[in-house]
Amino acid sequence: MKVHDILIVGAGLAGMRAAIAAHSHLAHLDIALLSKVHPVRSHSVAAQGGINAALGENDSWEAHAFDTTKGGLYLGDQDAIEAMCREASGDILDLERMGVIFSRDEKGRIAQRPFGGAGFPRTCYAADRTGHAILHAMYEQLLKRRIFVYEEWYVTSLIVEEGVCRGVVAWDLLHGGLHAIGAKAVILATGGSGRVFLTSTNAVINTGDGMALAYQAGAPLEDMEFVQFHPTTLKDTGILITEGARGEGGYLLNTLGERFMKTYAPEQMELATRSTVSLAIGQEILEGRGVDGCVLLDLRHLGRARILERLPQIRELSVEFAGVDPIESPIPVRPGAHYQMGGVRTNQWGETELPGLYAAGECACVSVHGANRLGGNSLLETIVFGRRAGRRAAEYAAAKVPRALSDATLRTEETRIRTLMGNKGPERAWQIREELGKIMSLNLGIFRTQKSMTEAGEKVRELKARASHVWLHDRGKIFNTDLIQALELQALLEIAETILAGALAREESRGAHYRSDFPRRDDANWLKHTLAYRTTEGASLKYAPVTITRFQPK
Ligand SMILES: Cc1cc2nc3c(=O)[nH]c(=O)nc-3n(C[C@H](O)[C@H](O)[C@H](O)COP(=O)(O)OP(=O)(O)OC[C@H]3O[C@@H](n4cnc5c(N)ncnc54)[C@H](O)[C@@H]3O)c2cc1C
Repeated sequence: MKVHDILIVGAGLAGMRAAIAAHSHLAHLDIALLSKVHPVRSHSVAAQGGINAALGENDSWEAHAFDTTKGGLYLGDQDAIEAMCREASGDILDLERMGVIFSRDEKGRIAQRPFGGAGFPRTCYAADRTGHAILHAMYEQLLKRRIFVYEEWYVTSLIVEEGVCRGVVAWDLLHGGLHAIGAKAVILATGGSGRVFLTSTNAVINTGDGMALAYQAGAPLEDMEFVQFHPTTLKDTGILITEGARGEGGYLLNTLGERFMKTYAPEQMELATRSTVSLAIGQEILEGRGVDGCVLLDLRHLGRARILERLPQIRELSVEFAGVDPIESPIPVRPGAHYQMGGVRTNQWGETELPGLYAAGECACVSVHGANRLGGNSLLETIVFGRRAGRRAAEYAAAKVPRALSDATLRTEETRIRTLMGNKGPERAWQIREELGKIMSLNLGIFRTQKSMTEAGEKVRELKARASHVWLHDRGKIFNTDLIQALELQALLEIAETILAGALAREESRGAHYRSDFPRRDDANWLKHTLAYRTTEGASLKYAPVTITRFQPK
């Protein structure tokens, strides 16, 4: 069996940053990454609008911390928020030294654009392809350090012995077959779970696997009911139209041609927080002022030159996927699932409740985003907390003596896969996945009620039972994507269960969690984190206090 000092599951920004940090800290360690897709196909590559840091002379990390706390409706842990905002500018400069080509202002400094909920233009960007620019620079750093990558391997389970995480069991997609891989420290950097919903900006690979792995291993998932719906996703496909489009000055219009945000957020208008803008759009559509299930994002007044310079990808996506050229016509947009604020509960150093297991990036909940994430803060989170988790895991691994592993988990997983392969069906995994997406989008979207969620809960339990019988068309070993989809489906269902449990219990509205039957925020009873633990009967909930340092809830 192969054994490493550190194994990082996930090769998006959080995973790569963790690997580089661990290597820079203790170069003698044996560090490996593992990813179900080639590293630069990770969803981080799709990030458009930018990454936040208080670089401006009149800006400060404290102001960034305040905006983040307030934007998250005071549910974020302020010690973690402070760490992220304080370290942001150093991390941006490190990225630049690694070779990230940020867009520039007229003076040649790193340019910054305004983003929703921010009191200052503090989002650094590379046109509207920021994730692409950072991920590729990071990959070069990985190659330079000769860090080994298990490319196209899929983790099916964590290995936990005597209450300590000691490695993973993973399926080699290219050759087929399960392998146990030992590690003194495992870092989960597996990204989001947006595909629980049908309308989502997320890549099809964002199925919440890492969160499900931790949940199954006994670590709690935190604040899973807080799913961000991005206000502007393209009609039909749900492709993201970056907030940068509004940051550059784009307007939102209803069917009467009104800039309706003046009713909902007269000061911030289109740059109010995402939860506010999504709710406003939902309300306009609900009250019949939408256009074909959407509202319109108008960029025409920005002019051709600016659109081509600052938002080239947005123009291309609109032309290709909606047949609309934003230089000439407004873009039809509607809210779609975008980001999981919750995730595997960690402290500021990425440590989970399970010794030996760390988590960073979107799959983790540190928690810096609280009830609503500000645009540009997620890329920042992957970099700051990826780096911190890498460093802490390196110290932990360096102090650990290696030990022999039993093959019990490997055997259990072999049985699980054999059973799946032998299923008679007749349903296919994609059918259940689509049903799940529909029910979650319909019943747990921007508006939620006890009735809608109870219905969804019953359906999800039924789907869970059906999912264990799905029929695999492909029973071979080589590149069996059918098998991977069946495994991903099981993860999606676990995630749906935790979102549902948290959302049903939380009888208030806060940020992205809006309950029509409890429309007010209730700090007296609900200013607390939800923790979901897995039991055979479903998610069991506990609650934990929010860390408040300098900003009292208002
Ligand atoms: C379209 C879009 C645009 C965005 N734009 C912005 C933006 O402008 N600014 C911003 O701050 N945020 C943005 N976000 C959010 C941000 O991009 C993500 O939250 C962040 O990039 C996630 O990074 P990550 O490293 O945590 O995970 P990812 O980049 O998603 O990587 C996850 C990795 O885990 C691996 N993996 C998952 N499961 C398994 C498994 N079972 N076995 C093996 N490997 C596995 C995958 O292969 C992948 O390598 C955007 C998100 C989307 C979807």
